[in-house]
This record gives sequence, C-alpha cells and structure tokens, in this order.
Amino acid sequence: MTQDSTKQTPAVPYFRMALEEGEILAVTNVLRSGWLTTGPQVTAFETEFALKIGENVEAIAVNSNTAGLHLCVEALGIGPGDEVIVPNMTFTATAEIVRYVGADPVFVDVCPNTLCIDTHKLEKAISARTKAIIPVHFGGVAADLDAIQEIAKHYDLAIIEDAAHSFPATYNGKAIGAHGTTASVFSFYANKTITTGEGGMIVTSNKDLARRCRIMRLHGIDRDIHSRFTDNKSSWHYDVIAPGFKYNMTDVAAALGRAQLQRAEKLRRLRQSISNKYDAAFADIPLDTIPSSENGGESAYHLYVIRLQNNVEAKREDLEQGLKEQNIGYSVHYTPLHMLSYWQKKYHLKDAQFPVSTSHYARSLSLPIFPSMHQEEIDRVISAVRETVLSFLPK
Ligand SMILES: *Cc1c(COP(=O)(O)O)cnc(C)c1O
Repeated sequence: MTQDSTKQTPAVPYFRMALEEGEILAVTNVLRSGWLTTGPQVTAFETEFALKIGENVEAIAVNSNTAGLHLCVEALGIGPGDEVIVPNMTFTATAEIVRYVGADPVFVDVCPNTLCIDTHKLEKAISARTKAIIPVHFGGVAADLDAIQEIAKHYDLAIIEDAAHSFPATYNGKAIGAHGTTASVFSFYANKTITTGEGGMIVTSNKDLARRCRIMRLHGIDRDIHSRFTDNKSSWHYDVIAPGFKYNMTDVAAALGRAQLQRAEKLRRLRQSISNKYDAAFADIPLDTIPSSENGGESAYHLYVIRLQNNVEAKREDLEQGLKEQNIGYSVHYTPLHMLSYWQKKYHLKDAQFPVSTSHYARSLSLPIFPSMHQEEIDRVISAVRETVLSFLPK
C-alpha cells in the first residue's frame, strides 16, 4: 500500500444512524421489563402518534409500511380484477402490495418538479375497474392532495397515502395523515425520518378499516367477539375470523419509536437546515433540486435529489463518477418501476409511456441528508457536487 492511499479522505456516508442515550435506555428498559412483544409500549406509541397527527385519527402500529399498505388494500376488499393507481417513481413496495391481493397496479408518471403523481395523467388512467389510488409524498413533500381527493370523490375511489417519507410533514397547514383520506401509512424503516428499526403506522379515521386492520395484523384473531359477552378480558377465548397476517409491532420497537417521536421535529429541522445549505450552494449551477417546497406544506426533508438540467451534456453516471472520486455516498430515487423487470414484463411497460420519470432517472441522484451530518461533511458534499457539475460545462 502506498503512503497516499492510506491518507484517502474518509467517506461521507449516504446515511448514518445516530441514536441518543435516551433511546437506547428506552429499549433496554423494555428488555428488562419481561414483556417484549406487542403490549403497553405499542399502545402508548399508537396513542402518542395519533395525537401528533391530530384530527382524532386512530393509529395502528405494524411491523412495516409494506405490511400497513397491504392491510389497507385487504381491508377495502380489493382483489382480482381490480386496479389500483400508483406513481411509477416509488419503491416497489407501493405496487407489490396490490399484487399481494391479486389486483393490478396501474402506473402513472410523475410531475417533474415534485416527483409526485401527475394528477392529469392519473385521471386518464382511471377505468371501470379502478378501486383506489396510492399517492406517494415523494421525499416528504405532499402530492397534490386537493386534486387527488377531488378525483377520488368524483370516481368513488379510496385513497391510501404512502406516507413512508412524510413524518412529520404538513399539507395546507395540517399534518400528512390528517386530511380525511381512507388511510395514510408511515414507515419507520432504519433510514426513514424516524425509526423503530423495522416498523410502520397506519393512520385512519375510518373505524371499520381500523378494526379490520387490527384483526388482520395478528392472525385474524378477534377478541372483541368474546369480550362482548364476558368481563374477563384475560380469558383464553378468542375467535379467528380470517386467515390473517403476522404484522404486529413489538414493544422493543415501539419503545424506540416513542423516543424518536419526541425528537421528530428536531430531526426534521436538522434535515431542513442541510437542505437549505444545499439549495444556497447549488443556486448558481445548472441543477434542479427536488423536492423544493411545493403545495403549501412543510416537507419532512427525507430526500435531497439533484438533477442535471437538460442543457448539461452529462448523465447520472458522470455525476456518480465525480462523487465516487471524492468519496461521497449517494443513492438513487428511484429506478422507475417500469424499468424493473417484473413490472416491465408483467404489464408490458415502455419508457415512452413515462417520459418524465425516464428522463429524471437518467440525470439524477440523491445526496446525503441525515441529522447527524457534520458541517465539514456538508461542505465536502457541496464542493464535490459543484466541482463535478462545473466540470461538465463548456470552458
Ligand atoms: C421505505 C418505503 C416503503 C417501505 O417501507 P417499509 O417500512 O420498509 O416497508 C414504501 N414506500 C416508500 C415510498 C418507501 O420509501
């Protein structure tokens, strides 16, 4: 090994987890408590999360956002022959849960400035078989919920918000989750805005949907049926009303979630400050930055995506090369679903059907934006991006 290679600057990671002592203590307290699985911590987490959303919503904790989305389409009775509209610029989970119940996702292209579903194209995608829309609030900026709700009302469709990026975020002054859609589903995966390691939360004001989700997240077991006829709630009696799933959250996860919930607003502000620094530093170079704040809401600042403007003679691969040379971590959000082989083959999807996401994908990547980033790391990302993009411009 040469002297030089040992002196290479340390990597700026795309994401770095940073838990606080209070969070670690909350988890170890559960480990000492003698109760690990769904119990008092989960109940408390649900109550506290619902209060943060407001509007008297009900919150149902599950072991992932994917599980939560699945429970919602199951509870709505969506099945074979039905269609559910999804944006193609999302993680595959948004669409796969539609296949879990035997229905078909219908993919719709996104708006170039928000990467959220294009509501004009959405309306054209509606057929007699359409049952629901699953909008994604990309990067934590709300999709155009007013327009989506108007369309859903007109065609009598359910709206299940994929709010995996959106805690805490607002739209029209109210939290995502508080807008009276059928349901909103949040993610607490390790690199999401708050985390339980793996976890998710369904938020809804629909009592029937909530009840079905609670039953189906744990084997289809219905304890209420028995407890209606007896005072003894600890009875071993229960009924099973359907072949349910194993989607419950553990108390270990919920204890971490409760501690993270207390810090959620502070973590959001830390991400916002990084986003503001990036915005200022890239204002004079030919980059689109997404999401910029749109739709009159506060973003959760989950992602910071940069895209080379069309007049720049370079591609994502060239950007990647520049960042790799300076040891800067990055990611890509997302490979549009129509470019992934399962979806492409199953539904005969072509790039030409999705011009916005296809072109976005060719020219964009996501920069690190995590709360424990040091100023020196932010500065290194900024100078690497500026240097790389400026090198693409004619001399
Ligand atoms: C992370 C993510 C999911 C899946 O969340 P899990 O909690 O890992 O199941 C779904 N949709 C989007 C848009 C995501 O980013």
